Amino acid sequence: MITRTSSLFLRTLREDPADAEVPSHRLLVRAGYVRRVAPGGYSWLPLGLRVLRRIEAVVREEMNAIGAQEIQFPALLPREPYEATGRWTEYGDGLFRLKDRKGADYLLGPTHEELFALTVKGEYNSYRDYPVTLYQIQTKYRDEARPRAGILRGREFVMKDSYSFDLDDDGLARSYQAHRDAYVKLFDRLGLEYVVVKATSGAMGGSASEEFLAVAETGEDTYVRSTESGYAANVEAVVTPAPAAQPVEGRPDAQVHHTPNTPTIETLVNFLNTAGLGRTFTAADTLKNVMLKTRQPGAKEWDLVCVAVPGDREVDMKRLEASLEPAEVALLDEADFAKNPFLVKGYIGPKALQDNGVRYLADPRIAPGTAWVTGADKVDHHVVDLLAGRDFIPDGTIEAAEVREGDASPDGHGTLVAARGIEIGHIFQLGRKYTDAFEVDALGPDSKPIRITMGSYGVGVSRLVGVLAEQNHDDLGLIWPRVVSPFDVHIVIAGKDEAVAAGAEKIAADLDAAGIEVILDDRKASPGVKFADAELVGVPTILVVGRGLANGVVEVKDRRTGEREEIAVDAIVEHLV
Ligand code: ATP
Ligand code: MG
Ligand code: MG
Ligand code: MG
Repeated sequence: MITRTSSLFLRTLREDPADAEVPSHRLLVRAGYVRRVAPGGYSWLPLGLRVLRRIEAVVREEMNAIGAQEIQFPALLPREPYEATGRWTEYGDGLFRLKDRKGADYLLGPTHEELFALTVKGEYNSYRDYPVTLYQIQTKYRDEARPRAGILRGREFVMKDSYSFDLDDDGLARSYQAHRDAYVKLFDRLGLEYVVVKATSGAMGGSASEEFLAVAETGEDTYVRSTESGYAANVEAVVTPAPAAQPVEGRPDAQVHHTPNTPTIETLVNFLNTAGLGRTFTAADTLKNVMLKTRQPGAKEWDLVCVAVPGDREVDMKRLEASLEPAEVALLDEADFAKNPFLVKGYIGPKALQDNGVRYLADPRIAPGTAWVTGADKVDHHVVDLLAGRDFIPDGTIEAAEVREGDASPDGHGTLVAARGIEIGHIFQLGRKYTDAFEVDALGPDSKPIRITMGSYGVGVSRLVGVLAEQNHDDLGLIWPRVVSPFDVHIVIAGKDEAVAAGAEKIAADLDAAGIEVILDDRKASPGVKFADAELVGVPTILVVGRGLANGVVEVKDRRTGEREEIAVDAIVEHLV
């Protein structure tokens, strides 16, 4: 069907929106693709929706190609499954929580691991059923602290999330690799410039989690890459000076100590050795040793090293749990929290510890990504911005952080340089965190249960619209890659001549019949206005029908290169298919 600009629900803007921080946001609003409704909430107008749908189609094709099956969950979810995994609390302020008329708790799904695990448990029970991979393309809700840059960081956004279910680790590794390959194909098809980075510098071992970052100056993620090899890793924070130690409200004997951002293990060891703990630490200390050594003289109740991780970052809790022997982790109950209210902020943690009533102690002022040592209910020592996996291995020897600008690349080739990117995909070997929580088992050939192992894989579908705009624009407007462009050809009728208009209609009909998606600017506006809009809207091919028609030619302009070509009207369909 030919789309006519005269009746298209589209109004382009001459002025940049006042709140636009980045080019994609500015241009998507100006060109009439999206409109803001609330912080982090956007309407998709016809052009925007077309791009979104085309991206979805590519994502769907690549998911189907690896045998993933599409399903759809509600976004409105009951509290219970998220309570069972601890995420009702763990997600903190990021979760939209609400109540129904009867007072029952609900949430708007930020991601759906719980539902997928429960659904597979409900339908499958034999080892013969596995492996299986399911996905959905669905609206997610996160109450982001800083919704930003239009659709790049929304509070409501479209994500493709898939989940693999395998009988064993090898199966999981295969499912993970299949997704990794599919993501490479997908992002290549979209013509994106991107890097694949280890999400935790590789210290967690192998490819347990990788992020796909689109290269963009305006990105929020900093990564380092080698000048010579393909090595790349995410860096969560840049180095900043340490803030001064701060008193803790209600605890005259306690102070919060900060290490500099992105501490190396040397920093951590130094910190521990100067924190007045009366013990000496070395870089060879395991997490468990640190815990034991920080036990205060006379401590009888509990000592606990807590590792706080951002709500959206996964730590291998099984390994962490294995590094903490239950006997050494004292049991805390509500009374303890009542005595130390400033410590209490929900919990995350190994399920076994949770079952024993051990809570995740979080000082609300301390950012996720924090590890802290708390000794005997006397003095707290906090190490800020420590990342499990990057700064230490939860159950192993403490290792220096690997990823810093200027360092030699860990693979021995080249030097690390920093760059910025936008996360477009994230693949993760989850393991059994969720299948343990819901006891998702398959009955094996010997009739013994096999605990299923899981992977989770996300793509920011609506974010990709912004990312593609970020990577494909110039001063005049957007320049869509063909695969996602709202139309294939933008026909501009230049001139008031009846014959020109009729000729353009004929060309549009011929192209349409040949399966080319056409937008025809048939407005009574001046050619200048029409050209400006065509450049702004960003369809890759602009076809100008004007005076030349009398001589049997039209002009084809490549939006990206600006190159113009005169083509015979008779040959135009052939030229453009
Ligand atoms: P970010 O680091 O940008 O906050 P995330 O790590 O929290 O992203 P995931 O939980 O890994 O995101 O979700 C999978 C994908 O969903 C991300 O790779 C990203 O492309 C997309 N995504 C996440 N949050 C948003 C958002 N607020 N708006 C749009 N897309 C998002
Ligand atoms: Mg996030
Ligand atoms: Mg992230
Ligand atoms: Mg992520």
